Parts: sequence; structure tokens; C-alpha cells
Amino acid sequence: MPNEKPKSGLTRRGFLELSAGTAALGAASYLLAGRISTLVPMVSAADVYKGDGWYPGLCKMCMQGDCVTRNHVVNGIVVQVEGDPRAPNNAGRLCPRGNAAIMQMYNPWRVKAPLKRTNPKKGLNEDPKFVEISWDEALQTVGTRLAKVHQDDPRKFVMVSGFGQFASYFSAMLPFMQIYGSPNDVPSRGQACAYHFFGSLVHMAIPDSVADMDRTEYVINIGRSQGPNIAVASSGSKVYVDAIERGCKIITVDPRCSPEASKAHEWVPIKPGTDFTFVTSMLYTMLYEMDINQLDVWSIKNRSNAPYLIGPDGEYVVDKASQKPLMWDEVEKRAKPFDAMPSMNAALSGTYEVNGVTAVPALQLIKDSVKTYTPEWAESISTVPAATIRRIANEFVSHAKIGSTIVIDGFTFPFRPVAVQVERGAWQHPSIGPWTDGVGKIIQELVGSLEVPGGATGNFAPQSMILSPGDDGVKAPSAEAVAKPWKFPPDLIDSHSFYPLSHTLPSLMAKAIVDPKTYHIPYEVEILFSSGGNPIHANFARDTFEKMYAKVPFSFTMSLTLDETAVMADIVLPEDSFLERQSFEFSLLQVVQPHKVSTASTRSIAMFGRRDTSKIQKLHNTKNSVDIMMDLADKCGFLTGDMGFLKIMSLMMGAPQLDCSRRPTLDELGEAILKTGYGDEKTLAGCTDAAGPVYKYKTNGKENFNYYYWPDNKTRFSMYHIHPLRVGRKLRADIKEAGLTAVPGWKEEDMEFFFHGFRATPNWILTEELSAPKEYDLWAFNWKTPGFPFYCGDTYGNVWLNETMKKFDPYEFAIWINTETAKKRGIKDGDTIIVESRYGKAQGAAKVTELVHPLAIGVPASHGARSTMANPIVSDGPNFNALCTIEETHRAIDPISGGIEEGPAVKVYKA
Ligand code: SF4
Repeated sequence: MPNEKPKSGLTRRGFLELSAGTAALGAASYLLAGRISTLVPMVSAADVYKGDGWYPGLCKMCMQGDCVTRNHVVNGIVVQVEGDPRAPNNAGRLCPRGNAAIMQMYNPWRVKAPLKRTNPKKGLNEDPKFVEISWDEALQTVGTRLAKVHQDDPRKFVMVSGFGQFASYFSAMLPFMQIYGSPNDVPSRGQACAYHFFGSLVHMAIPDSVADMDRTEYVINIGRSQGPNIAVASSGSKVYVDAIERGCKIITVDPRCSPEASKAHEWVPIKPGTDFTFVTSMLYTMLYEMDINQLDVWSIKNRSNAPYLIGPDGEYVVDKASQKPLMWDEVEKRAKPFDAMPSMNAALSGTYEVNGVTAVPALQLIKDSVKTYTPEWAESISTVPAATIRRIANEFVSHAKIGSTIVIDGFTFPFRPVAVQVERGAWQHPSIGPWTDGVGKIIQELVGSLEVPGGATGNFAPQSMILSPGDDGVKAPSAEAVAKPWKFPPDLIDSHSFYPLSHTLPSLMAKAIVDPKTYHIPYEVEILFSSGGNPIHANFARDTFEKMYAKVPFSFTMSLTLDETAVMADIVLPEDSFLERQSFEFSLLQVVQPHKVSTASTRSIAMFGRRDTSKIQKLHNTKNSVDIMMDLADKCGFLTGDMGFLKIMSLMMGAPQLDCSRRPTLDELGEAILKTGYGDEKTLAGCTDAAGPVYKYKTNGKENFNYYYWPDNKTRFSMYHIHPLRVGRKLRADIKEAGLTAVPGWKEEDMEFFFHGFRATPNWILTEELSAPKEYDLWAFNWKTPGFPFYCGDTYGNVWLNETMKKFDPYEFAIWINTETAKKRGIKDGDTIIVESRYGKAQGAAKVTELVHPLAIGVPASHGARSTMANPIVSDGPNFNALCTIEETHRAIDPISGGIEEGPAVKVYKA
């Protein structure tokens, strides 16, 4: 039976076939131990595929999924995966996960055929009593249910997708949801991924802002950095090392001495959850302890809204005729519209009577807002010495080379080789988390380092519209900074109306499905579809997610293995491993640069992700996820037609010329995309290993910096962040008009905390965890590791990764505790310890180390899964998620980003 648990005992032939070529990570040890025979299915002589050789591939062992590979195929088996040295992004490199890709495909714990649940009782500890069924039966069962709900009320169908299906999501699942008419398309990984708001608002830096690593000379990393932390092969570690070697100073502010901190100029250990104090006291130092002329006054006046006059209501004071924001002209001693006077004449301080109100330049308000945030204040909360903060602030400003320029292709740019990168971890604290980034933007604007060579830019390919200003002259909010429309009662299952600036809210989705009345949802969900992630394990509050799956009448998944979410499903649709996925991968690379782009080699590049799997023998009765979505669209009756699934899919994939009157093959789809993007002469057949990767640069040289398109004062960045203030005001009014006194789930008395972050200038507030009872005297924190960065790619069930990390990294599956902290509690290295928060416990072996802050407890990755039907290795390691809560009554959800508190107060003791 294809879905039996794996047994050992393949024949010697199976052993030899693999041994012929396997040279990737750890393979030699498996072969020597004779253990590979228990891992790879036998290939019979009849099944042997002809055509041994090297074939082009594209890795998908992480969300990024853009490292170009060469796959060596022998007798239909992939025996080696290498980075393609001709690829402009990964240049031959692969991270540990890419090297271990073979074991995703040949994992004996894969789902091998469609499955149907026969036990109606649903629970994580219930045996689903799966039976194998045909694809016809599986698709008919799902399709019939989908068609019925589609007729009745499409909102009752909810899709939860993860990074494992990132490409298929954009190419197939998103079009499916659009045609189906359900707004309930909920990314499953939201709580740790909510760090896009201020980047989207200020300079369209989404997913986040990155430094120009070819030129930058001083980078402050707060939280996760752009590469080494999670081993991003295409733009991470080597870029860092190259920058350090040419003299760039990297300052890492982190409770843990991370890989980049260990190689960086300086590690600044900080108490978890207090990064806000570090950046605001840097801002204090710059505004109160430096002369304004040490900063980039030209940029402040010309490139930001800092000179705009603000009234007592926090709004811009505007010209009555044109409605344009006013600045105070110090030469003419009167207020004038921002575009009707030389910006250098604008006042940055003082108070002025304008339009009958007292108006103040925005920079003055920013300065006032941080007047008590001295480095000494920050030290008292964060433990970072005041002298260190002052020194770093001064180093940052002196490295900015204010006044210097650089000429690229004959165009003169300001040259500001400094950046502040506020990332995951630092973001995951309600209210103050997003504002840590908001202040990081202000600091960079004070030295003029946004969107210029050497400074910080966005991930999107440079293009003329990216920095387009609104009528007020300030770059208009884009992407996730655009507030979602209010609707009450809500259509959206995940409470997005109440969190209009949030990224995604899977936890609130789960709560609302379980308890729709509390969340004012006027319907009951009938179908849940999950793919590319494992929402039960990837989110906090496992119990709530279990209840959600138990409650919904029908759920189906596309799965590689029987993870927790698959165990709860009614139908499991087994999907291909990416190594055997046919032909091509539609990739975000068509529109977005390789993730974390930071050098000229990848900036503005577009790539075609070709996978030639024609000579790779598929192992099981699985399907390509795009094919599955076409099948389901067919069952629902909207595959073809003018605005049918194929039409929408072809438009979204960038292949508008595709014949949508009939179902195309995946090869036809791939070729259409290839021709549209790279020229009519291109063919899939021509995309061979010998020909090398297909890519092109959309722009070059000076066109690779957004300043080129919007120079001087043609656009301005938000420094006085008026947008969240306005969104908060509207939200308050909407809630009141709906007759509510609080956001669902929140206590009425916590509403001021809820709205605290919806303001224009920074303001400190104590979070629930920083004010926990004294017995919880440490703070847990979490990070993604090179082996296990996300819950996708089935890295947790990958035996090569598991054994390699166990063997070579004593920190991977352990709980990190500082030497002094451990000593006080009588804890020794290797002792089994319990970390206990107010919400749950995690257990594991102590790693006593100097590499973690004395007040911090480090629990890496997303270990400790508990599926009863997966490879037991997924359960290895302590489970960080158990320590966190999703409860609004604990003020755990950030009202701006939707991120969940990830710095729970804990106590630690020996088991
Ligand atoms: S970073 Fe690693 S896992 Fe991600 S695509 Fe590249 S090689 Fe694959």
C-alpha cells in the first residue's frame, strides 16, 4: 500500500542506484551505514527512465524558492542537486535546505495517494482512519462540495495557504479564489510575518527594506537580518561577508549572538521586547544632542514631510484654496503651500499662527515626542548601556557622509551609505513593535539614506511609479499600508475590518470560525482548504486551530506529508515534491526581485524558473498543485470562459496570449509565460542545462535606484507618520457607528492600548509581557534557523537536515540560557529544563551559553510538532509556540500589523 508507514529492506539494487550519484549533504554517511536503503524506494527495471544527465531546476525548500539548481538524474532518480554557478542570484550556492532537497522527494513518509477520512470524529489524537481513493473520487468529492457552497454563499469557503505553495498560490489559488468569489483567502503564517507596514508606508519597501550591500558602510540590524540568520543562499551570507571584508560595519542588536552578530563589527545584546527604546533613544541623541547641521538638513526639508505645519488636531494645516499642506517660509515670514516656496526656506521648529490655529512644523512634534527618551531611560529598560547607544548614534551619523554624492551613469545621486533594518522579532510586540521600524525610518530620513545609493531601498524592482506622491506631496501609502475597507458585519472571516493595516490574521480566523457570534460573522464556514503550510503547527494556540478543524463540516488539504493539518482533513490531496513538479514554476521573480535583493547582481532582475522534470520518475500517485486547481475549477464549472479561471490565471501569470478556450498542459502554460517575458524565440525545449538559466535585467545602472525617478523634492517620505493616526481615527468612528464599544475579543478598558499605535509620532507603552508578574522574570524569544526557517519545504521532516543539525549544531534543538542565569537556577549544560509562560510550557535540553542575553531564553525554530502520523523526527526539540497566546484579553495582538506577541515572560526551572 502506497500509504503504509515506511519499512526498511529495499534490495541492493535500490541501494546501488542511489549510491551511483549521491554526493549531497550527508549522503556519504548514509551510504556507509547502509541506511539509504531504508529511505529511497526501489526503482524496478521497467520503470527506469532513459536520459541520464543534468537538468535545470529551481529550489523550493523555503519560501524564497528562487535558487537556480542543476539536478543530476540517473535512471529516473535525482541523485544530486547543485547550485547553478551561472545563476546571477545564488551563483552556484545552495543553503543546507537546498542541499537536502533530495530527501524531500524521497521521504518515505510522503502522502502517496489521495486519502479519504472514514472516522467522522476529528481531533489531533483521533485516528482519521484514512483509506486510499482514486483521484477521480477525491476531486469529485471536493468539487461537489465546492460547487454547492459556491452557489449558496462563497464566503463559507476559506483557503489557508502557506509559503510552501507561494508560487502556486499566485498562479492558481489566488485566481481560483477570485473567481469563486470568496474573500477568505488567509495566509497561514501571519503572526510572525507581520512586518510590512512602515516599509509599505514610507518607501514601498515590501516585504521589507534592505541596504545597498555593494556600497553601504554601516548597517544596524535589529531583529532578524536580511540573510545569514536564515541562510538565504541567493542574497544573504556571501553578501554579508563581502561587505564585512570591504570594511562595512554591521551592528547587530539582538538578544542572541546570531551568525551575523558573530561575524559583525558589534553584537549589542538587548532584553527581548525593548528594541523600541534603543531606536527612540538614538533618535533622541540625534535630535537633542547633535547640532541639526550634523544631519541632512537638505534631505529633511526636501525629501520628507518634516517641515509641514501641523495643527492641534495632528492634521496638516492646509492652504484654503489648494488644500495643499503648508510650510512656514522663514524668509517671507508666512505660510505657503509646500510646492510654492523653496524648501530650504522652510522652518523645522517653532510655533506659528496660521489659519487661526497654532501650527508647529512636524519635526518639532517628533522632537517633542521623544524628549524623555534619553539613552539612560533606554538603558533602564533595554539594559543596553547609554554610552553604547550614544556611540552608535554618532557612528551612524558620521558614516552617513552627509553632503557626499555619487555619480552613476552620469546621474548625480546623494550618497548615504548607512541603513537601519528593523525586522522580525523586533516587530512582534503589540504597538511598540511596528513603531520600532517607524522610528528606524525617521532615523534614516534624518540622514537622507532612503532610496539612494548606499542606503536602504525596497525589494521591488525599481520603477518609475514606486515613489509616486499623493496630492500632499508625500509618497502615497502603498501595499499593506493601504487600509482595508470597513464593512460591518464583516465579510472577512479574520477580522480584517478591525485591523485595517494588518498583514494577515490566521489566529483571528480560527477564533471566528469557532465562535462567529463574538466576531460578528454572519455566516458559518463550511469548507476549509489548506496548502503549503501547516496552520495548526505554524500558529500559536494549537487547541483553537484543532477546534476550528473539528468544527468545520469539510476540510481538504494539499499535502506532502501527514502533518497535523492533514490529520484533521476529510480529504488529503497528495502533491508532487518540487523536484518532480513539471516544467516550470511561475515565480514572483517575474515581478519582484529575488528576496532580500541587495546587490547589483540581482537588483531589477527577472528570471524564468524552469524545471525540466521529464526524466525524473515520479514516485507516487501525486499531482502538481496547479493541475489540481485546474481540476477543481473544472468541477466548479468556471475553468474556461471570458473571465474564467484560465483567463484570470493567464493574466496573473503574465501570459495573456494563452488560448483559454481549452485546458492547457503545464508545458503550454510555461512556454506562454516564457515567450511573453523573454521573447517569442524562446522555447521550453531550449531551456536546457547546457543553455543555462533564463533571466534578464529590467533596468540598469542609475535606473536601479528609485531616487533617479523622483529626485530632489519631487517626492517626500513620511517622517511625521500621519497615516496611522488617520486610520485609527476612522476605525474609532467606524466601531462607534457599528454600535460597538470595543473591538471583538478586546476588553473595553484596553481600547486605549489598542489605539495607542495609531499615532503620528513615537510613544512608549508597556506591553502585557513586559509588565508580567515578577515570578516571570525572563523573556523567551524565537528565531528561524538555517535548517528550519519556515514551516514549508517539509524541512522538519527532512532526515538529512535533522541529523546534520543534531550532529553538528548543539544549539539547534536546545533551549538557550545565559551562563549566569543558569547558575542562579542550578541548571547545567544538557539538563532538561522547563520554560513556563502564563499560557503554556516548553521542555528541552539546556544549552548554557554566553551567546544569549541574561534576561532572555532562546527557543529556536518551530520544532516540536506533534502529528501522530508524521515522521517522529518532526517532534524533536522544544516547541516555542506553546509559550505564546493569541488572546486579546492578554493584549497579545498588535492592532497595526496583526502580529502576535512573541516575547512571552517566562520562568525557567529544571524538569
Ligand atoms: S535559500 Fe536555500 S532553500 Fe531557499 S531556495 Fe535557496 S537553496 Fe533553496
